[in-house]
Amino acid sequence: MHVAHLSLTNFRNYVRLELDLPACFVVFHGDNAQGKTNLLEAVFYLGTTRSPRASADRELVNWLAQEDDMPFAKVTGKVHRARSSLEVDITLLPRADEDGSGNGTPLAMSKRIRLNGLPKRATDLVGQVNVVMFSPQDIELISGPPHLRRRYLDIMNSQVDSHYLRSLQVYARVLVQRNHLLRQIRDHQARPDQLEFWNQQLVDSGAYIMARRQQTVEELSDLAQGLHPRLTGRQEHLKVSYLSSLMVNGSREENDVALVVGGSSVDSPRILPDAPATSLDLTGIKDAFRARLGQVVEKEVLLGMSVVGPHRDDLQLRADGVDLNVYGSRGQQRTAALSLKLSEAKLMLAETGEQPILLLDDMMSELDGERRGHLLEGLRQNEQVLITTTDLDRYRSDFFADAAIFKVERGQIERAGA
Ligand code: ATP
Ligand code: MG
Repeated sequence: MHVAHLSLTNFRNYVRLELDLPACFVVFHGDNAQGKTNLLEAVFYLGTTRSPRASADRELVNWLAQEDDMPFAKVTGKVHRARSSLEVDITLLPRADEDGSGNGTPLAMSKRIRLNGLPKRATDLVGQVNVVMFSPQDIELISGPPHLRRRYLDIMNSQVDSHYLRSLQVYARVLVQRNHLLRQIRDHQARPDQLEFWNQQLVDSGAYIMARRQQTVEELSDLAQGLHPRLTGRQEHLKVSYLSSLMVNGSREENDVALVVGGSSVDSPRILPDAPATSLDLTGIKDAFRARLGQVVEKEVLLGMSVVGPHRDDLQLRADGVDLNVYGSRGQQRTAALSLKLSEAKLMLAETGEQPILLLDDMMSELDGERRGHLLEGLRQNEQVLITTTDLDRYRSDFFADAAIFKVERGQIERAGA
């Protein structure tokens, strides 16, 4: 698939943009702070209704527009798919205060989504526009904390599986309620048997999330094993595994909790044996989840929070058995992140039958010449690849002979002559 036309209104530093885009390599070049990343962010937003970097949607609304009586931002994309075309339209509008008090957070925004002109929910967008973004921050997927890796899995799975997205929404609500109840039990304001209702809800929504993540991770791992040696030029064996909090000592965070509550510390051996190949089916996960809840109930009441479930799970990447989060060199971490993203693009193609739109933000400066070559070679067969750079000379090679070149300057974009 590819975006054939993009319209932005009050999106970041784009007050107004109308842009036709071809299906090929498209290079956006410009100085720092001109709007290159903002443009890719807009395309990512179309596909996921999420920003890859903003913590709140209001950050996306143009600063000047935020002063308006009715501030809004709008992203519209005409997307061509193999057998159909569609128009996706997302408008951000100020949200009415939920409590009616009139003093909510300034500019809390809500989304209004339209598909071919008809109002839709976020779950209806699933599978319509698929995007994979590559950026220098991807290294944090390997080196950073677990919540980044969970978010990564969530965005990827939510793009292709609407049941996953719904389960995530339910799970988040259940978790808040259950944590509240745990604190009430601790403070003797509620009875432990009241937990059963929430346990059931937690297991029902949570088990699906875990099952789906586990399946995705196994597929990613297979793909990455094939791709990785080509990127590194060495026979480094990359393995991606899902660390489930259902396994005792499975999750890094639960081990942290164990330390907090005075449990014993768990050494993390440098070379880890392969986890036993015990992928459970959905029923197996539900049973294991329920059993774990029984084991940790005292700890949960003591802490006033839920300590097992998909919100505690993690992803582990190992190169030749070494945990890259803990021991990877920067170069190893960067290449592993790249392998993961390339695998994601392949996985999306396999799941949907459509090439996802690839967004490469400022990637080339991060990689040495050889890896750059391997990356670009790997991207050649994709339908549309949007690339940003400050340094156009890097793209004046034969490789980009057919690329469309655009110049980005202060929130305006112009196609450069040949
Ligand atoms: P670099 O090469 O440094 O990565 P870039 O071209 O990718 O630069 P962007 O991240 O796209 O730059 O940001 C362009 C400008 O948009 C920045 O100066 C940023 O401060 C500004 N900006 C960010 N959010 C908003 C907003 N809500 N309203 C207006 N401008 C914004
Ligand atoms: Mg940028």
